[in-house]
Amino acid sequence: VSPAPTVVHAFRAAVARAPEHTALAYFDGRLSYRETDALSDSVAGHLAARGLARGERVAILLQNTPHFVIALLGAWKAGATVVPVNPMYKSAEVRHVLTDADVTALICADRAWETYLRDTAAGSPVRIVLTACQLDLQSRDDPRVLDFARLPVPADADDLVAVARQGLPAPAERELGPEDTALISYTSGTSGTPKGAMNTHGNITYNAERQRTGGGIPEGACYFALAPLFHITGMVAQLAACVANAGTLALAYRFEAGVVLDAFAEHRPAYTVGPSTAFMALAAHPSVTRAHFDSFRLISSGGAPLPPALVEKFRAAFGPYLHNGYGLTECTAPCASVPPGQEAPVDPVSGTLAVGVPGPQTVVRILDERGREVPFGEHGEIVVSGPQVVPGYWNRPEATAKAFPGGELRTGDIGFMDPAGWLYVVDRKKDMINASGFKVWPREVEDVLYSHPAVREAAVLGVPDSYRGESVKAYVSLRPGGDTDAAELTAYCKERLAAYKYPREVEILAELPKTTSGKILRRELRSRPQDSQ
Ligand code: ATP
Repeated sequence: VSPAPTVVHAFRAAVARAPEHTALAYFDGRLSYRETDALSDSVAGHLAARGLARGERVAILLQNTPHFVIALLGAWKAGATVVPVNPMYKSAEVRHVLTDADVTALICADRAWETYLRDTAAGSPVRIVLTACQLDLQSRDDPRVLDFARLPVPADADDLVAVARQGLPAPAERELGPEDTALISYTSGTSGTPKGAMNTHGNITYNAERQRTGGGIPEGACYFALAPLFHITGMVAQLAACVANAGTLALAYRFEAGVVLDAFAEHRPAYTVGPSTAFMALAAHPSVTRAHFDSFRLISSGGAPLPPALVEKFRAAFGPYLHNGYGLTECTAPCASVPPGQEAPVDPVSGTLAVGVPGPQTVVRILDERGREVPFGEHGEIVVSGPQVVPGYWNRPEATAKAFPGGELRTGDIGFMDPAGWLYVVDRKKDMINASGFKVWPREVEDVLYSHPAVREAAVLGVPDSYRGESVKAYVSLRPGGDTDAAELTAYCKERLAAYKYPREVEILAELPKTTSGKILRRELRSRPQDSQ
């Protein structure tokens, strides 16, 4: 694996190889590599002219649109570090990120600026604001009716599109290298206050190059951005991997199953990656057909547990095999994946699907509580080192020392390895349920629930129980037309799991709460009122 020094170098190499090839496709719109290069140069020139210094932080708070990519490349060409911010964040969360990362420039949708970000940014270090017209589509039925009817550009912001079209040159001598911080990525926050992981350009280009050389996707092919670009999976496994391969990145604002299926039919992508929940939603959509998936060379499911039953149901119904991949923000998306052409084994004891094998130059160790390596098959904490592991968290020396002792990443995930080198993720350390002293790993119970034909989504957690300390509770949502009830699902699990593992209570919800990157939000389920036991 010999990656480009930075994503900008990789992008410029793609411009040189295929200047007229479509870099970005968005509904009816197309931008070539040459155009995208010129537009992002101009954004860089503007940021520099507004006084942005090399190494300063630029926050981008946008959905999956061409604006995002142009803003990102522009900020990097200006020598900045980019802070991608989830556009679904509430004001207090955005304020935390703007001040924590000492952000001086903010690029966001004009409506978001008008409705809440102006107030949010007041008193923060932000002094340069660029806005783009991205309509708030939350209230609309169909994102395809994007008419780009302009709202007036806010008086206290610059217009991103106008700036990009100014034809300014990128500033000279802002060239970054592999050690420079490309991103400060705030973790999803499924476990408390988000911390900013510092992904270097070298971290990103390593993972992008690994995917280019090992993924079997032809040069110039279409990559579909199913995961949000503000999340590390979208940023690296889609955007950076696409750029490394001089491909076309197809974007569709945000995940909406019907729109995504139409976009598959239109763009005929060869590759996509998303959380397993996205594939569950696509599989449950009334208009889905096998033809929607026939252009794919590889589909990866990453960033969240992949139930083996979903892999089989998906293959039987639509053809493709879903390749599992394991990663974290702190290792710049994947650190283990299922190589193309191979299938992940299922552990015969627990029924867990392997997440993959560690990539080249990547070392995965499984350690017990005293930091000793455990034998094959035994559970322990997954610890990772390699070229994709970040050097630490922004401004958090204590959290860095704790999570990265000796430069190795302590993932907080419990897993095991088999003798053939496959890695299995059992669960997160903190999600373990302790029922009368018995350890129950939610994922094992969830995998059983997913094998039930009526179940669409499942999440299992421990709820307080005066007798057992904690007891196992399952939340599920059903497939359209799924015919079952709580008693039948409990009996189904009881038949397949040890007595201490099956859920004592099953609650059926219309939909499980998820982060915008598609992960089931246990935190929210945990705070739901429980029947007193
Ligand atoms: P926070 O750290 O704030 O809780 P987060 O952990 O959700 O946020 P990410 O870095 O997006 O932030 O998620 C990484 C986690 O996702 C891993 O630690 C692991 O628990 C889970 N995960 C990722 N890929 C897989 C997979 N293939 N199978 C099982 N779990 C996975």
